[in-house]
Amino acid sequence: MGESNALYYSETRPIGAGGDFITAPEISQMFGEMVGICLTDAWQKMGAPAPVHYVELGPGRGTLAADALRVMARFGLRPQVHLVEGSPTLRAAQRQAIPHTIFHDDITTLPDNGALLVVANEFFDALPIHQLVKTSAGWRERMVGLEDEALCFAAGSKPMDAAIPAGHEDAPDEAILETSSASAAVMAEIAERLEGQGGAALIIDYGYERAEAAPRYGSTLQAVKGHEKIGPFDAPGEADLTALVDFTALAKVAADRGAHALGVMTQGDFLRGLGIEARAAALIKSSPERREEVETALSRLCSPEEMGELFKVLMVLGRGQ
Ligand code: SAH
Repeated sequence: MGESNALYYSETRPIGAGGDFITAPEISQMFGEMVGICLTDAWQKMGAPAPVHYVELGPGRGTLAADALRVMARFGLRPQVHLVEGSPTLRAAQRQAIPHTIFHDDITTLPDNGALLVVANEFFDALPIHQLVKTSAGWRERMVGLEDEALCFAAGSKPMDAAIPAGHEDAPDEAILETSSASAAVMAEIAERLEGQGGAALIIDYGYERAEAAPRYGSTLQAVKGHEKIGPFDAPGEADLTALVDFTALAKVAADRGAHALGVMTQGDFLRGLGIEARAAALIKSSPERREEVETALSRLCSPEEMGELFKVLMVLGRGQ
């Protein structure tokens, strides 16, 4: 999954109407503006620390960053910009959208001093997952095999029962447990940095919360190409591979590392709470010809039938903030 996505993001133009999928910041400037307002508010409540860094993980075309930074500047917040991006193609687009950007291959090279304002929109869903499958012989890793020249799923040969946490004793045969150690590792480092350096992180993605004790089984791996869902093995390296984000797991990792994970909320509640409806009304008032575009965007971002409920937001703060 990791290799397929690295190839996919570096060789194609995935995001936008002409690409494979559209993300919230590409729907409307209002999305990035609300993120900018939220982070400005967090920064002001921390006592407006300096230096301060804007950090975005997987910034796509740089649209969210440009919209958020424009709003921040209106409140006197002009952070140094650090973009964590693996794809050279997308880096070129980001450089155009935001001059004076410092690029990073991963989060280990982010600055060690100064508060961090971190944003990750549709980043965690692209990180690789692992799956464990319950077979008649016990739990095994679910692996990728080759059958008649075609990729397929296959249960690994090594017993994995010892890797299964308590609470799954009654799992039915074929049950699949999904985890993402890559996501946990990124969340852990961000949380430690927030705790040590101060700051806030906003993680926005499609995913779920779960009761910690209640098992959740099934594969959420999916592939998207040309705005259509396809099989995960149909076009490796040419389709976007994602899995739903386990927000309960991310919040727990952040809390275990000493940061303060605020409750997970839906994207609709998050955007409405920050005043997106007032912002939409102001945009329509100043540009009446944009009414239809703005109203459609508001509905796509907030309504439960569209992105409003499937997408969730987790905010993490350094303790004492
Ligand atoms: N946040 C953007 C783009 C989402 S697509 C938006 O909302 O429009 C996922 C982004 O994460 C792309 O920029 C992709 O290149 C980047 N990405 C995916 N896996 C990555 C990894 N392991 N390291 C760095 N960037 C990664």
